[in-house]
Amino acid sequence: MARDDLSAALVQGVYPFVENLYHCLRCNYCVEMRWQERGIQHVCPTLLHHNPAPGYSGKGYLATARALLEGEELPIDSLVERLFNCTTCGNCEEVCPVGLRPAHLVRQVRAAMAAQGLAPAPIAACAANVIEHHNPAGAPNEARNAWAVGLAGIAADAETLYLPGCAASCDAPDEARATVSVLHQAGLPLKLLPADQARCCGAPLGEIGYSAEADAERWQLAAAIERSGCRRIAVSGAECVPSLAGVDVTGGVEVLHAFDLVERAIAENRIDFKPNTHVPRGPIAVLDSCHLSKPSHSVAGAADYPRRIRALLERLGCRTAEAPDQGSYAICCGAAGGMPYMSPLSAARMAEGKLRSFAEVGAVAVITASPLCIAHLRRSQIRGLPEAMGIFQFIETYFRLRPMAR
Ligand code: SF4
Ligand code: SF4
Repeated sequence: MARDDLSAALVQGVYPFVENLYHCLRCNYCVEMRWQERGIQHVCPTLLHHNPAPGYSGKGYLATARALLEGEELPIDSLVERLFNCTTCGNCEEVCPVGLRPAHLVRQVRAAMAAQGLAPAPIAACAANVIEHHNPAGAPNEARNAWAVGLAGIAADAETLYLPGCAASCDAPDEARATVSVLHQAGLPLKLLPADQARCCGAPLGEIGYSAEADAERWQLAAAIERSGCRRIAVSGAECVPSLAGVDVTGGVEVLHAFDLVERAIAENRIDFKPNTHVPRGPIAVLDSCHLSKPSHSVAGAADYPRRIRALLERLGCRTAEAPDQGSYAICCGAAGGMPYMSPLSAARMAEGKLRSFAEVGAVAVITASPLCIAHLRRSQIRGLPEAMGIFQFIETYFRLRPMAR
């Protein structure tokens, strides 16, 4: 592969961000910022758990993109290794004082590399899984709805379409089941797409640099949504919210996270919760998923989920334990950006680091509204560290639900 080809492939993708390449202050905030009052202990999970060299930071990725664009001679193999070991969490964007977008640039450089056939083998395999099986794990798509067999709350004529997403369907089906069950008791039936029409929302492909393939998945999913006749979608995947927010369906659709619906049900007095005898007595930690917490990510990241999830826990009577990093500055657990495929050991260290930080503040359980994070934390679960659960699984396990008279 000629280096010139890579520079040429970069031009189009990098163009919207080209000013970023020349405005880095080299302040090092994205490398080593500490700000206790803001909950910033560290910034970059890749620096913390994969490689501490500054080339793996937001600043480093900006410098690399600039060098590549300018046709500088750089060793391709180590460049590829570096570029595909960012979680694209966006924490560097959250702390950057001049609003630069290293995570966005990483996706663009990855796209240029993938277009030139330079994606590392595990990343290419993940992309092939989505293209062939419509989910990153490569699970058979026809079994996608297996978790819903016999479950009350699924109705063919429901007005709300439930898209659990690949992570919940394939890796955290208990969260998908609990979501349907809780919303059913709140008086909200859900419709599912037939398994042969269900597709990935495209988010995982976009993060690893396969943007055209991501669009193709999203278009197929948009067509299936249109055929469903539903004008409201509830998703479980934190990454699905922004990915589907722009789907082109005639008449438009409302895209919500399932958490929004249980929050509304409570506000409208449609459901009540009473703790059962097993409810944890100790504090509960919240893992703030990057997609739902960082405004740099998308509309979902700007929708105040960290505060709202804690408010729900408070309403349920739970105490919360706060790790030093939280909300929009929370360190990524390593689930996203292709990290578990590219460097599974580094991704596992990221998850362990999160769980240890929750254990250190006394948490007895960790909840999150992202099935992607739940599945990743569980894969890295270590004896003695708090158990990771989806927020709906937590509600269903520890509370008796009472539909309210309407
Ligand atoms: S925080 Fe922003 S300006 Fe500062 S070094 Fe990082 S990318 Fe450059
Ligand atoms: S997006 Fe996250 S992992 Fe990537 S450089 Fe920025 S802080 Fe590090």
